[in-house]
Amino acid sequence: MLKSIFSANFSKILDGDLTVFGGPAVAPALAGRMRAAQTDTINRYTPWMMCACIVNAGVLVFTMVGTPLFQLSLLWAGAVSAASLSVLVKWRRGRTLPARASVGVRTIRRAIVNAAVFGAVWGLTPVMFFAGDGQAADLVIACLCAGMMCGGAFALSTIPAAAAAAVLGIAAGAGFSFLTAGNSLHILVGCLLVCYAAVLVKSGVSHANLFAARMLAHFEAERQHEVIGMLLCEFEENASDWLWEIDADQRVVHASARLAQLLGCGAEDLAGRCFHDVIAPQADAADLTNDLERGALLARLKSGTPFRSIVIAVMAGGRRRRWSLTGKPIIGAGGAVEGFRGVGSDVTDAREAEDRIRYLARYDALTGLPNRVLFHEELEMALVRMRRGGEPFALLCLDLDHLKDTNDTVGHAGGDALLVEVAARQRGVIGERDTVGRIGGDEFAIIEAGAGAPERVSRFAQRIAQALAAPFAFNGVAVALSGSIGVAMAPSDGKDADTLLKNADMALYRTKETGRGAHHFFEAAMDEKARDRRQIEADLRQALSQNELRLHYQPLLDISSGLIIGCEALLRWERPKFGLVMPDAFIPLAEETGLIIGMGEWVLNEACKAAASWPSDIRVAVNLSAVQFRSPGLVPVITKALRQSGLPASRLEVEVTESVLISESQTAGAILNTLRLMGVRIALDDFGTGYSSLSYLRKMPFDKIKIDRSFISDLMTHPDCAAIVNALIGLAGNLNMSITAEGVETDAQLAHLRAKGCSEAQGYLIGRPAPVAVLVALLEAQNAMARPAEKAA
Ligand code: C2E
Ligand code: CA
Ligand code: CA
Repeated sequence: MLKSIFSANFSKILDGDLTVFGGPAVAPALAGRMRAAQTDTINRYTPWMMCACIVNAGVLVFTMVGTPLFQLSLLWAGAVSAASLSVLVKWRRGRTLPARASVGVRTIRRAIVNAAVFGAVWGLTPVMFFAGDGQAADLVIACLCAGMMCGGAFALSTIPAAAAAAVLGIAAGAGFSFLTAGNSLHILVGCLLVCYAAVLVKSGVSHANLFAARMLAHFEAERQHEVIGMLLCEFEENASDWLWEIDADQRVVHASARLAQLLGCGAEDLAGRCFHDVIAPQADAADLTNDLERGALLARLKSGTPFRSIVIAVMAGGRRRRWSLTGKPIIGAGGAVEGFRGVGSDVTDAREAEDRIRYLARYDALTGLPNRVLFHEELEMALVRMRRGGEPFALLCLDLDHLKDTNDTVGHAGGDALLVEVAARQRGVIGERDTVGRIGGDEFAIIEAGAGAPERVSRFAQRIAQALAAPFAFNGVAVALSGSIGVAMAPSDGKDADTLLKNADMALYRTKETGRGAHHFFEAAMDEKARDRRQIEADLRQALSQNELRLHYQPLLDISSGLIIGCEALLRWERPKFGLVMPDAFIPLAEETGLIIGMGEWVLNEACKAAASWPSDIRVAVNLSAVQFRSPGLVPVITKALRQSGLPASRLEVEVTESVLISESQTAGAILNTLRLMGVRIALDDFGTGYSSLSYLRKMPFDKIKIDRSFISDLMTHPDCAAIVNALIGLAGNLNMSITAEGVETDAQLAHLRAKGCSEAQGYLIGRPAPVAVLVALLEAQNAMARPAEKAA
């Protein structure tokens, strides 16, 4: 086993494997190059070693003059010199050949064998010529052995096996001769030579390992260099980026062809040009950001500090471009900046896209006005200016009236054109220092800078309202336009943007309530009202789940028979701490918030359930809001209410106002038709208060018209009212619809209506809205009265 370990290591040693001596492992791919580097180094010392051999042989002959060994020494020196010369000649011939990048194991073996021969030749010298007589020749031989051991170890140090073969060969010969001489001085010299040999072998091995490690690092650096070179080459040829390099005077040393191409010149034209000229600024001096960036770039180049992605505007090939530059200083051996090296890229397209996104994020794409975000910033800036200079300003919030109806009339394209027109009209009125923005779909806001007295602001608001009041024409259709305005004054109505916007909004709300197309200033009381409203809204959200809703029923009288034939369900809210709240106080809010959808469903269920227990000829009427028609579930909700209560559809009447038909005419029409097919009766409520368009009566499937109570209350005092009521009664008769007069409070009114042939009446005279029990009692009384009559019959 020992033998096999030895033989395995021996063959490794012969192959030049350094791991045997604790050296680095060399990857097979690099072994050939490593061997070439080792032998190449040895080759460089070959002539010196051969010369040393010839000189040493000469010296030996000289010292042998007059001794019996002179002739032998002459012969020996001749042979050594001849061999050395032949090696020299071979070396000279080999010098002209190109250096080999890689050599095989055989070359290493040959080097070891050569070294062994060298060691043997000089190891034989003391054996052959050492006299042991303490004469000069012995001294010379000791020096020769020491010198040749050192020279061999040094020259062959890249291959430790070769160095060891040479040194040990000489040491063996010298050791044998000197140690066996019997003379204590000679034994001492022999010991010294053996020690030298051991030290030389050890340092030869260390040097060989060091050499190999250094070569491996060199190979790795070379590999990295090659990879980088390849990548750079690829980069310069294909990438959109380019490389640049300038010297300490900021003159171009190197530039990619791509840069030359962008500048519209040849790469050779760029060399030596001043970098500042290459990145010549564009003429647009007003570009402040560019000036800043360029300043930063020049400062970095001057101070020799690295920089990253500095974007500057340049004129390249006659066009304005944006370049991003990254650079690193080139530091010379003395630590001085010798230039810069870096990459550049044309980021024009990316920057333009970014600019566009930034623009879109801050401006309204349709009108080009600042959007909510930018307007808010402008408002903040106006506040900062006000705080610094004390200049007050006015904030106007403007809301277009009936934009939705306009969209219905002229379509969305028309609506868009109208918004653009509205923006232009406002721009025409505002001053240079004022700002107008579009902060919502049909909401605009204006900052009137340096606003003075309220009268002045009022005149400004009027001018805006007037500018909007002119009709807007689209595709030959004229659309009436108006805007409601709310004004908040800074700083008196708010010292921050949010408060000002909120207060202007509240004033706007007041304008909407009291009459559109005008303006109102914010007042502190509005805030209170708004707070109340918010509280109502919060409470209303709980009303349904907390079971606070009630239904009251108001009877309907059939005028000719004098009998109650139905009733209208009217919603009440029993609000904790407030008592019974009437619908006018909460239904508009419920409609705004969408709460009406759930509440309406509750009303339908409740009314149908109640009516199902009444006599089978009594109908129930339920009011439906326009918002309910916009939610998709209305028909299913009605179907479900009927099914669950068991009430026949013919006993349910739904009351709708014209607003349902105006805004949602198509869907509402379809829903009403479906309901009618189911057998549900449809009544047109509050007729006479809205547009009162007779065309609806023709298009829509109404069973009944309800004349608004405002006509009835003036029936006896205003002849024109009487005329309208009379005409409506006649019209309904002709259209085969029944007609109900609402708000009948006096006998005279009822008598008039009876005389004119009105079918039904509803009002305090017949009965006030009351809880279901009251109505049930009324119906029972009516029933009780009818029964004796039936019996008599
Ligand atoms: P409306 O549909 O026109 O209901 C009739 C209103 O007139 C009721 O007011 C009723 O109390 C009142 N009224 C009836 N007879 C007389 C009279 O002789 N004189 C006077 N001065 N008033 C009379 P109410 O209950 O306050 O309802 C107001 C409105 O609230 C209703 O007007 C209706 O539009 C709406 N509303 C009521 N309940 C509901 C509901 O469940 N859903 C929806 N969407 N709206 C409802
Ligand atoms: Ca009604
Ligand atoms: Ca009504």
